[in-house]
Amino acid sequence: MADHTVTDRLVEANERYAAAFADPGMDARPVQRVAVVACMDARLDLHAALGLKLGDCHTIRNAGGVVTDDVIRSLTISQRALGTRSVALIHHTGCGMETITEEFRHDLELEVGQRPAWAVEAFRDADQDVRQSIERVRTSPFLLHTEDVRGFVFDVKTGLLREVDPA
Ligand SMILES: [Zn+2]
Repeated sequence: MADHTVTDRLVEANERYAAAFADPGMDARPVQRVAVVACMDARLDLHAALGLKLGDCHTIRNAGGVVTDDVIRSLTISQRALGTRSVALIHHTGCGMETITEEFRHDLELEVGQRPAWAVEAFRDADQDVRQSIERVRTSPFLLHTEDVRGFVFDVKTGLLREVDPA
């Protein structure tokens, strides 16, 4: 079919998935009581990389895995309504956010005649941005649990996580 799109293939895959699906009878509260904030990068298979199973965690992803107001919104709901206690923050090597700058925002404004309300949140150094993300989570007044907040850089070549010292 000429008009067969990628989304059509997703829907077909879902039909096969549902045919073999058995209701696991799970609660919405993550079993491991953890929320993982990560970059949306296509090379990062969070569940496989972290040994997570269905129902184990909340997964919050965006460009860069940066802690924006909307990530704080999700973490707040995750902790206050759904019982998570730990936060893992994951950036990665070779992130596209290292190759763009806040000029991206200016260029957008010139192109469409409107400045986006959001910051691009580009960064030069993944470690430094992980530290900043840890700090944003730890200092959020909305979160109940900020004792177990750790940050990592995932190496897309080796599959290994490297922890970032928050200091
Ligand atoms: Zn990335």
